[in-house]
Amino acid sequence: MSATKIIHSIPSDPLTGSISVPVYQTSTFIQDAPGVNKGYDYARSNNPTRKALEDIVAGLEGGDSAFAFGTGLAAIDAVLKLLSSGDEIIAVDDIYGGVYRLFTHVYEKLGITVKYVDTTDADNVAKAVSSKTKFIWIESPTNPTLKVSDIKKISKIAKSIDALLVVDNTFASPIAQQPLTLGADIIVHSGTKYIGGHSDLVAGLVVTKTASLSERIKFIQNASGGILGPWDCFLTIRGIETLDIRYRKQCENAEKVARFLTNHQAVDDVYFPGLTSHKNHEIAKQQQNGLYGGIVSFTLKENTVPAANAFVTNTNYFKLAESLGGVKSLLCHPPQMTHASVPREKRLEAGIKDSLIRLSCGIEEAEDLIKDLKETFEKVSTNKFAQTS
Ligand SMILES: *Cc1c(COP(=O)(O)O)cnc(C)c1O
Repeated sequence: MSATKIIHSIPSDPLTGSISVPVYQTSTFIQDAPGVNKGYDYARSNNPTRKALEDIVAGLEGGDSAFAFGTGLAAIDAVLKLLSSGDEIIAVDDIYGGVYRLFTHVYEKLGITVKYVDTTDADNVAKAVSSKTKFIWIESPTNPTLKVSDIKKISKIAKSIDALLVVDNTFASPIAQQPLTLGADIIVHSGTKYIGGHSDLVAGLVVTKTASLSERIKFIQNASGGILGPWDCFLTIRGIETLDIRYRKQCENAEKVARFLTNHQAVDDVYFPGLTSHKNHEIAKQQQNGLYGGIVSFTLKENTVPAANAFVTNTNYFKLAESLGGVKSLLCHPPQMTHASVPREKRLEAGIKDSLIRLSCGIEEAEDLIKDLKETFEKVSTNKFAQTS
């Protein structure tokens, strides 16, 4: 969707001409007679501000419908409620830590099993599926090592066994990637990240491909009630107004930062799908409209937690915080932060080394971000990094 189309998919208010979507801060709607209303009866079931956001997001992803939830995990939780005890999920192995926790500590207890595989090779997925598989669950690119999986290929495997392909599109955002057009059935987003984009709210979104899936998610949304409030819906819409321009700038910054890191002597590996050295660069190029996201992860030659700690506590513009995708650059140390709930051996299996640092590039000037990183390396090298070779 072009920037023009995105901006003009945001409706003005037919009642007053208000150019921005009004915030309907209400719990209920007056009825003309029992059951006779203007399309809204109770704010858990529906709210005009939420409806506006949901329609905009459905348009962004080319879906049948979208549904807004209180957080990304609430959105994911709603999708998981489509399953029954005995069902199985095949999931990407370096899945977001919070999703791992939800699978392991909430849904496995309810009789849903999850098998983790490296989905960057579609053959691994084909080998792992069984008659019990109901979902194939991928993130692409993943958090934090930015692995990219072939959505088209995996969607064919899902179809062949009557399972649904769920894609967490948080990192690519609808600007870089439209999973439904590549064969996915359901998209989830942490709206907290790029879509909101200002680090000022938490939100989650589900986008469905078919009317029958929409009906089932709508039912769960109303039955479980994990909805996004009207004010946060308004802020999310406001974020979407600048999503295209923000995301493109963040991609540009990340690419420059990744190139800088690749050439730095204290850095070991750099994970960024835009680098030709990245294992999944070719598929990322095809699948993501030439946009590789604003996230860059890297490891240090001194591959230890203390070395990572020294780095992440000495930056200036990059602020040490959970989350990503906002206009201000952030950094984090996944082993102790976003992925602390994943056991160390599982983390290492998924390629999350002890010194792994994740950068979320904001919309500052790339030169300033690079200068910040350069100065941080200099600051900590005197004591922490014994720069061998
Ligand atoms: C942050 C994130 C989530 C969880 O979203 P919340 O809004 O924090 O609940 C899920 N998936 C990915 C890829 C994320 O980055």
